[in-house]
This record gives sequence, C-alpha cells and structure tokens, in this order.
Amino acid sequence: MPPILSIQNISKSYGPVQALKGVSFDVPEGSVYGILGPNGSGKTTLLGIMLDVLLANEGSFSWFGGSSHAEARKQIGSLLETPNFYHYLSAYNNLEISAAIKQHGLADRERVLRQVGLLERKDSKFQSFSLGMKQRLAIGAALLGSPKVLVLDEPTNGLDPAGIAEIRELIRKLNKEGLTVIIASHLLDEVEKVCTHVAILKRGNLLLNGPVNEVLLSEDQIEIAAPDMNNLRITMQSMPGIKKITPAENKFQLLCEPGIDAIKVNEYCISKGIILSHLLIKKKSLESKFMELTN
Ligand code: ATP
Repeated sequence: MPPILSIQNISKSYGPVQALKGVSFDVPEGSVYGILGPNGSGKTTLLGIMLDVLLANEGSFSWFGGSSHAEARKQIGSLLETPNFYHYLSAYNNLEISAAIKQHGLADRERVLRQVGLLERKDSKFQSFSLGMKQRLAIGAALLGSPKVLVLDEPTNGLDPAGIAEIRELIRKLNKEGLTVIIASHLLDEVEKVCTHVAILKRGNLLLNGPVNEVLLSEDQIEIAAPDMNNLRITMQSMPGIKKITPAENKFQLLCEPGIDAIKVNEYCISKGIILSHLLIKKKSLESKFMELTN
C-alpha cells in the first residue's frame, strides 16, 4: 500500500533562518502520525508545505501515491488555526458558513456534527460551548466534504484537561472510522497517547521517525553488583546483547538490547558462577528519552 503522504528531502528557509533541513518520511494510511518537536522546530512550516500554503525551497512531497496536489487537496481536511466562529450563532449555523466557504453541501453538516458528538447540541449557541466542544466543532468544520486525511496543528493547545481528553478521544474515534490523522504537537504525552507513528523534529532536523512503540521504546537499564566487581565487569563484557556497561557507585548500569531482561542477566551470571548482591531494573521514562533527543 503506498503511503498517504511521502515527504522527500524538504528544506525551507525564512531568510537566514533555516526552518527545515532535508526532512523525509512517509505517513502510512490509517495511522495517527505525530510530528513532535519543541517550539520553533519547524512543525507548522512542514504542515504549511504539505498543505500547499508554503513553498519549500528544496525537496518534494506526494499525496495518495502521486495525485495532483489540487485533487489531493479535496481529500484533506485541515485545522491550522482556530476558525472564527460566530459566538451568537448555533453550531449548525456556524457550520453552514464553513460549508459555504468551502463550497460543500449543507447535507454534510448533520454527518459531521454526529461524527464530533455535537448533533444533540446543534442548535446551541457557540458561546455556550466548553473549550473542548468548541475545538470539536472546529474539527467538524475540517471534516466537511468527508476527507480521507485530517491535518491538525497543536489540536489541544489552550484546552483544559477535560477538553484535552475529549479531543484525544475524538482523534482515536475518527482514526478507527478510517481517517488518517496528522498532528503537529510539542507534547510528548499527547503523541504517546494517541499517535501510532511519530517524526521527531529539532531545529528543522528530523531526529527519528517510525512507529511510536519503536521510536519511543522505553529503554530499561539494569543495575547490578557483586562482591567481585572486576570479575563481574569482565563477565558482563562477554554477555551477548549488552550494549553498554557504565560504572556507578559500586554498581554497574547495563544498557541492553531488546530481549535482554533482568532474568537473562541473572541467569548468565549464575551460569558463570557469579552470585549478584544487587539487581535492579531502572525504567527510563519516555519523557527523559524525548528530553535527551531534543535538548
Ligand atoms: P511553534 O510550535 O512555536 O509554532 P514550530 O515547531 O511549528 O513552532 P515553525 O513555526 O515552523 O516551528 O518555525 C520554525 C522556525 O522558523 C522558527 O525558528 C521560526 O521562528 C521560523 N519562522 C517561522 N515562520 C517564519 C516567518 N514567517 N518568517 C521568519 N521566520 C519564521
């Protein structure tokens, strides 16, 4: 299956500021793809380029295996900035305006309101909505015309925890219904909770990309000690799958390849006649992994 979006070697400068430096990755169909990075890392610029709002200086991208950009655009719903809804109009009437601007039929409104869980509140004024409901309506406007892909820039910015949870649930639901969703976010937590895939940007460079569970895989560290530390070090150097041995206060910290856990380390030591006096698994949080990558 060709990727929904393929980005190849995109670079973009604003005068002396190089916002993107040769960024390439593919967005698989059916994914929730997070573009993750701190402020100023180039996320919004990348979304602007893929939506033909900005021109790249170098590189190219293709949607749906190579459709023309004009054709592709019809299949993409996007929310880069909060739309200017009228406070005194109902959800229904606000969507009427959005539908007219986008030249979509009015019949689509009910479907979209149902999709974002606002059908029962369609006649309520926009000003009576919670922050989460307002954002759901904005996503609803982006869903007019039944796009195959939804592109969202920082969809939970400015929301309270309840609003954040609502939007997270909505993204999951839309994805289950078959939509591919591309989200720019500076929040690791958001990406970890809803995204299937991630690309991590730092100052315009792509650091890593791939399935979330691979890219943000928590790396367990195993801490060990034994009465004869010298013998322990020599023994561990001979164990397959140990990537790094770091001495730390009468202990060694082991960085292991996937599949090597505390049991395997313990078994190996016993097989070499070593009885461990200390064995501890230290979980490396995703947060610290992200900080390590972006700082
Ligand atoms: P944020 O979340 O803060 O919007 P971002 O990751 O989306 O950050 P961009 O907005 O794409 O990053 O900005 C990338 C870099 O390009 C930053 O250094 C920013 O200051 C710069 N930049 C963005 N837009 C412009 C512009 N119109 N003119 C000049 N520099 C710009």
